[in-house]
Amino acid sequence: MREAEPPPAMEEEKLQQLRSKVTELLLREEWRESIQAYSHFITLCQTHIPNTTHDPNHLSKLQKSVCLAFSNLAEARSRLKDFSEALRDCDEALKMESTHFKTLICKGKILLNLDRYSRALGCFKIAIQDPQANANSETLNGYLEKCKKLEFLSKSGAFDISDWVLNGFRGKSPELAEYIGAVEIKKSEISGRGLFATRNIDIGTPFLVTKAIATERVEDVISAKVLGKNSDYYGIGLWLLASFVNHSCNPNAKRLHSGDHVIVHASRDIKAGEEVTFAYFDVLLPLSKRKQMTTNWGFSCNCKRCRVEEGACCKKDMRELEIGIESGVDLGGVIYRLEEGMRRWMESRGTWRRRIPAMEAVVESVVDAVGSDERILKVFMEGVKRNGGGGGGNLVEMERAMKLGRGVYGKVMKKQAMRNLLELTGMNEQS
Ligand SMILES: [Zn+2]
Repeated sequence: MREAEPPPAMEEEKLQQLRSKVTELLLREEWRESIQAYSHFITLCQTHIPNTTHDPNHLSKLQKSVCLAFSNLAEARSRLKDFSEALRDCDEALKMESTHFKTLICKGKILLNLDRYSRALGCFKIAIQDPQANANSETLNGYLEKCKKLEFLSKSGAFDISDWVLNGFRGKSPELAEYIGAVEIKKSEISGRGLFATRNIDIGTPFLVTKAIATERVEDVISAKVLGKNSDYYGIGLWLLASFVNHSCNPNAKRLHSGDHVIVHASRDIKAGEEVTFAYFDVLLPLSKRKQMTTNWGFSCNCKRCRVEEGACCKKDMRELEIGIESGVDLGGVIYRLEEGMRRWMESRGTWRRRIPAMEAVVESVVDAVGSDERILKVFMEGVKRNGGGGGGNLVEMERAMKLGRGVYGKVMKKQAMRNLLELTGMNEQS
């Protein structure tokens, strides 16, 4: 025994004071101060424990205090989003009391936040057996359901964001789980490493859902649809897998922001082995504008489409095309002008016809070249409207519109939700 030990009563008083102080800090939600105070409290208790071994009652009381302190420490840390440290504190508490109710709930919530659904489920399953669960059964059952649902989503990729879409992309974001579909990282011919499809992926199919890390919240999904179009969005996203996706002016994937998540889906059919690519900026722009954009982004595009257009378009054609686009042509015009810039590209792929093609054929070709684009969908829907389609109109046209809609928004909503969205797309003024 050390000599300068204060008498137990005095220590007890000190602990009591500290205990009321930390409780107050916690109630006031002063997390940083709570963390400091709880850490101090735990150290004090732990140095006190060897002195109390002669009194089993006192010892068990003290251990209970430490357990609760670790639990509260974890709570404070998780409020500050320091999840890995918070998890460690939970485990310290659980070492002392393996079924500590408050800690199990805290740990379950942290694991949910970290998208570890089955481990979170394990915590809540133990917690619900506790007598304290009766008073909280509704909340607990809510967590259990949430874990099961997210676990299913992360395995199946069967997302449904219909309600959120029908709400105009506002309000509560849908529950999304991290999901990795048929993709892998491999060496890319475009640049460094890239993301590749390991199976055929149908248009609209989501194949990657990840939490946006270090990104600003993008409230308005529409405003975020062309990443990099506005310089404000430069470098907005830093997602683990999504960040491996290279740029192409002939892209095959799009992303949709929803709450903290980003959903990546095929904007046209993707073949197994094909590299997944995004448009970092608006690829409906002509070659010279795209070159400017890539310079702004700090790379130069060497995609097939750029190479073909580079070789094919004489200066005069390009000039006319640029004037056309700069002078603010109507939406229909943009698409027909695209025909010029992409003629050779299409010919090289054998999908272009000599005569001026029908709207459907143009739409199909444009989608083939640049993936589904909201503006193209809009023009198409306006056409459908003019033909009296939409509600009960031409089934084939509507089917085509639905397919295009899936390419733009992803196959992540119910048919009726998509239908309603398309109706709106055909009516809205250009914004
Ligand atoms: Zn390119």
